[in-house]
Amino acid sequence: MTETYDLHCHSTASDGALSPTELVRRAHQFGVTSLALTDHDTVAGITEAQTAASATGIKLIPGIELSSSWQNKCFHIVGLGIDPEYPPLREATRNLQIMRTERAEKIAEKLEKKGISGALEAVKKAAGDGMITRSHFADFLLSQFHVSAQQEAFDRYLGAGKAAFVPTTWSELDRVVNWITESGGIAVLAHPLRYNLTASWMKRLLTAFKEVGGLGIEVVTGHYNADEIRRSANYATKFELAGSIGSDFHNPANQWVELGKLAPLPANIKPIWELLGN
Ligand code: AMP
Ligand code: MN
Ligand code: MN
Ligand code: MN
Repeated sequence: MTETYDLHCHSTASDGALSPTELVRRAHQFGVTSLALTDHDTVAGITEAQTAASATGIKLIPGIELSSSWQNKCFHIVGLGIDPEYPPLREATRNLQIMRTERAEKIAEKLEKKGISGALEAVKKAAGDGMITRSHFADFLLSQFHVSAQQEAFDRYLGAGKAAFVPTTWSELDRVVNWITESGGIAVLAHPLRYNLTASWMKRLLTAFKEVGGLGIEVVTGHYNADEIRRSANYATKFELAGSIGSDFHNPANQWVELGKLAPLPANIKPIWELLGN
C-alpha cells in the first residue's frame, strides 16, 4: 500500500480549529495514512489523537512544533516521533504555556492602548486549555472588524515591530533540538522559506542546526509551489538533510491548505520517514 504522509498540522491544543479527534478523522477522510500532530509548544493533544488514530486505523506520529531563538530570530522546529512523556519536554511545555499567557497579557495591553478592548478575555476563551497564539488574536481582531483578514491583523498589529507586537525570547535552538532528540524524536526545520533569509544566512542557520543535531527540513508544505519545493529541496541536498512533507493545516476554512493534499517529496531527497522507527 502506498503511504500518504502529512507530518505537520495543528489542533485545538494550539491554534488549530479542529479537536485532535476531528483532525485525525479528517486526515483519514483525505487519505492520510501517517499523520504527525505538531501543535505549537505543546503535546496536550497527542493522547486524544492517538486514541482517534487507533480507532480510525491511521498511524499517529507524536510531534510538536517548538518555537526557538537563534541569532535573535524565531525559528520553528518540528519534532517528529518524540516521547510526549519525556519529563524535560513536559517541563518545557509547561513553562512555554506560562510564557505564552504572559505574552498574551502584554499583547492585550498594547491593543488596549490602541483602543481595542476585550482581547485577553476573548483569546483565553478561544484557546481554552490550549496554547494562546497570535492566531487567536488575529481571529479576535477579525471577529471585531478591526481588520478584514488574518494577514491584515499581522500586518497592522501582530507582526514584528507592529503596534501590538511583543518581542519574545524563545529557548535557544540547541536546547530546543535537544529536547526533541533526547525524547527520541527527529528535529526538522519547519517551512524554511518563511523566514526570508538570504542564502548566506540560510547557510549559517542550517550549519548551526546540523551542528546541534537537526536532521531534517520541510521540503513540501501545504502552499509551496514548484519553485519553492525546488529551492527547499536544494537546501536538503546541499546540507544533507532528510526531507519532510506537512500541510501545516490549521483550519478547514482555509481552502488553500488541506490535510494530505501535498506534492510528493522529490525523488532525490531522503524521506524523513526512513528515519522514523515504527
Ligand atoms: P505565535 O507562535 O503565537 O507567534 O503565533 C504564530 C502563528 O500565527 C503561526 O503559527 C501562524 O499560524 C500564525 N501566523 C504567523 N504569521 C502569520 C501571518 N503573517 N499571517 C497569518 N498567520 C500568521
Ligand atoms: Mn499556527
Ligand atoms: Mn510554524
Ligand atoms: Mn505549524
